[in-house]
Amino acid sequence: MLTGLNVGVLALQGDFERHLYRLHALGLKGREVRRREDLAGLDGLIIPGGESTTMNLLIDRFEMREPLTDLCRTKGVWGTCAGMIMLARAVDDARIKPLGIIDISVQRNAYGRQVHSFHTSISVNWNGRPRNLSASFIRAPQVAAYGPEVKVLAEYEKNPVLLSQRNCLVSSFHTELNDDLTLTKYYLESFVSVFK
Ligand code: GLN
Repeated sequence: MLTGLNVGVLALQGDFERHLYRLHALGLKGREVRRREDLAGLDGLIIPGGESTTMNLLIDRFEMREPLTDLCRTKGVWGTCAGMIMLARAVDDARIKPLGIIDISVQRNAYGRQVHSFHTSISVNWNGRPRNLSASFIRAPQVAAYGPEVKVLAEYEKNPVLLSQRNCLVSSFHTELNDDLTLTKYYLESFVSVFK
């Protein structure tokens, strides 16, 4: 049962409330993760969109890097936008030390500035069932390269935008801004439940 899953949302900065709201909509309690103690006992963690340079800074300020990395190595994790940057192996910005959970290298703000944000529809093909997701790109990163163990689950104009490797799901776009719960459900069923 999904409702028994104990999923946290990193709540140092960014749009964590939207992810919590979606967990609640699916009947989960959801936990705001603000301190290292909040990581204990979680079955999974979402790293939201926001500003990755700030998130990086706060992770160190609150001495969360080590327990956060440990959790992300074993449990179902999902990073959206800035969260994807944090979970990457490499980033084109020396101020950020990514957690190195998924074998991708990313380029920040690759679609341009805030005014170049856009909404579109992405076609995803999982478990043989094609689905459309509405996706918002807000100062989104692009994947410059990915390793052989990484699966590309969706592309936008030939750029991979939804990828996974073992217990880790990343999306360069946001879906949590509307009421479509498809991707959150997919994350819970195919990552959190599987790596519990
Ligand atoms: N541009 C932001 C960054 O690099 C990410 C934007 C977002 O999360 N929507 O951290």
